[in-house]
Amino acid sequence: MRSMLNIDFNGRKALVMGVTNKYSLGWAIADKLRQAGAEMAFSYQGERLQRTLEKLTADDPGTPLYACDVTDEDQLRAMLADLGERWGSIDAIVHAIGFAPRTAMEGRYIETTKEDWLMALQVSAYSLLAVAREAESLLSQDASLVTLTYYAAEKVVPKYNVMGIAKSALEGTVRYLAYELGKHGVRVNAVSAGPVKTVAARSIPGFNRMHEAYSAVAPLGRGVSHDEVGNLGAFLLSPLASGITGEVVYVDAGYHVMGMDLVEDEA
Ligand code: NAP
Repeated sequence: MRSMLNIDFNGRKALVMGVTNKYSLGWAIADKLRQAGAEMAFSYQGERLQRTLEKLTADDPGTPLYACDVTDEDQLRAMLADLGERWGSIDAIVHAIGFAPRTAMEGRYIETTKEDWLMALQVSAYSLLAVAREAESLLSQDASLVTLTYYAAEKVVPKYNVMGIAKSALEGTVRYLAYELGKHGVRVNAVSAGPVKTVAARSIPGFNRMHEAYSAVAPLGRGVSHDEVGNLGAFLLSPLASGITGEVVYVDAGYHVMGMDLVEDEA
């Protein structure tokens, strides 16, 4: 009889960074890890989110929740030191964090100020490096890191502006971290998701149009769900993906394979 391929996270410890509410892609991945038996910890940016995280994790009271703004490396260090004491090691980290000041998303990319540019790159790309560095001594032998990226890292998506540049830096960081941490068996990958309705996505000018355009162009003729993004994240973090590192894996209903945004005439 054939056996089912199940993802089993029993006995594994996972830190998920960047959950604002149940629509966050970080939560989509976290929920899969929870269902697969992982012991979880979460970080969120501001105190206002603590209550939300408590509600989301209500069925597992006592789940460690940390206020951690990734621009504050003292907070990052304190969180990882505490997790080190509790857990001894970490098997999975989800980095689901991105931010660009609104002023950088409204005008032309050429007009981006140095402050806005540096802020977007710091929060959205440098933070992965900071998390990996501060967590390095805690990562288990076959630990895995996953971040979230977007197609605008490699192609121009009008209005995505500096976030596209931040995603390019993020994807480069994934490759360099994969190289360095691979020596210890640790894997680092990025999930490149098609547009999914979340708080961060709604702040992108023209997001709704982008969302509709995907369905019209993508080979599957639709967008992707939170669930599908969660599945890919959990897969990449699991032993089923043990041979995959430094990779950007798309979950976008195939949109990125299309050469042009023309919908074929039905006639
Ligand atoms: P989300 O729910 O708004 O998640 C973004 C998270 O980043 C929020 O929890 C936000 O916290 C956090 N964050 C921002 N600045 C931070 C800081 N300085 N320190 C710590 N956390 C900070 O939206 P999402 O769409 O799930 O975004 C998660 C990731 O997926 C992002 O990297 C995004 O670019 C990527 N992504 C999203 C899509 C999409 O269509 N939704 C597609 C491709 C990739 P606050 O709520 O407190 O600001």
